[in-house]
Amino acid sequence: MNAESFSGSERYLHRAHQVIPRGVNSSRRAVLRPTPLAFTGARGSRITDIDGNEYVDYVAGYGPMLLGHQPPEVVEAVRTQLAVGVLYGGQHEAEAELAERIVRMVPSAERVLLNVTGSEAVQAALRIARAATGRRKTVKFEGHYHGWIDPMTANGPGSPAGTGPAPRPVIAADHDVVGPEILVCPWNDPEALAGLLARHGADVAAVIMEPVAVNGGNLWADDGYLATARRLCERHGCLLVFDEVVTGFRLAPGGAQQRTGVTPDLTVLAKALGSGFPISAVAGRAEVMRVAEHTIGHAGTYNGNALSVVAANATLDVLEAGQDSLYPRLDRLTGQLADGIERLAARHGAPLQALRAGALVRLHWDAPTPLRTYADTLVGRTAPLRDFSEHMVRNGVHARETGLWYVSAAHTDDDVDRTLAAVDRALTAVSS
Ligand code: PLP
Repeated sequence: MNAESFSGSERYLHRAHQVIPRGVNSSRRAVLRPTPLAFTGARGSRITDIDGNEYVDYVAGYGPMLLGHQPPEVVEAVRTQLAVGVLYGGQHEAEAELAERIVRMVPSAERVLLNVTGSEAVQAALRIARAATGRRKTVKFEGHYHGWIDPMTANGPGSPAGTGPAPRPVIAADHDVVGPEILVCPWNDPEALAGLLARHGADVAAVIMEPVAVNGGNLWADDGYLATARRLCERHGCLLVFDEVVTGFRLAPGGAQQRTGVTPDLTVLAKALGSGFPISAVAGRAEVMRVAEHTIGHAGTYNGNALSVVAANATLDVLEAGQDSLYPRLDRLTGQLADGIERLAARHGAPLQALRAGALVRLHWDAPTPLRTYADTLVGRTAPLRDFSEHMVRNGVHARETGLWYVSAAHTDDDVDRTLAAVDRALTAVSS
């Protein structure tokens, strides 16, 4: 299943480049090697590029395809809805149905507001937090990603660590995106959070975090860290916001908050919610969400659009029904994959770690063990990981250069075996 030629993707990129900056519509897509790929279709665990190469897919549309590509239940629900209407500019029954499902599944959810993208839902959650507390500031963590909208890009993945609480742009030219209302804290450092809140707590509306720092290296919180953050927020009257755009529905039906037992005041959900149809949600305690009734503006032409909502309902139906089988199977396959990668790395003498969180694997090259902090992740080397990922693509596995792999319910034991055979070849190529 080697990818033989990428000339069609290269030709496409050249054409697109004449009219689209870098030829891509989301900047991370420009960095895939050997070349940014153009695709013609995807089904289950497989994706096919314009040159006819078929890959086992671990990019999964950057995370949403938890059920794999084209899950039949979702396709059927969308097809049925398409025949009757797409966008009403008014309500339809499937919206309340979806909110009821989210309330059932996500431990801290009592009220739900829909948006379209994760970035927007983060903005809505922070606006709710500011309105509910009457405060302006937000604490975020080094290396955590909360979408691309100002000013939440400050100190995202790729930023230096340990630069203190003043926000810094990830891309130098974006200096206008950071503002005094953002305070930055190192991850897994309870004293740092306690100190920051002791100094600024009275002005802080929200402490927002990825409860597993997926974008900052797939780092679990240390034992007791989330509970400490919860307690500190209560002490200082700030709201705890979990950005579960990636972890929601993926780590467990109720996301990281179900896995860790720590519940936030507000939760942001997206990605796996819609199986690829654009939809996001802010869910929260009724008392906090009440401010959304009159106090804040919340709008969006496409919020609650019928296709995305029925896709989400069908997705959550499958996930709810599969609580006892689908998640254990995802855990088993992800474990086989991560353990297999580390076993092969040891055999090749390659300093490769595969960190797991639910159906997610993040590879680190030459990084310390155990990896706890964002600063630890920056010790790792990215160039060999990029080379390795390129060889994975050449060997028929669609995998991001960051080493973040999404496993889906459509992956099979056979896919994992093929993937590990490709890992073996890629490690041979990288080591030679
Ligand atoms: N929050 C997290 C944790 C994410 O990983 C992402 C996207 O990758 C976002 C927010 C932004 O979501 P979207 O790309 O849908 O705007």
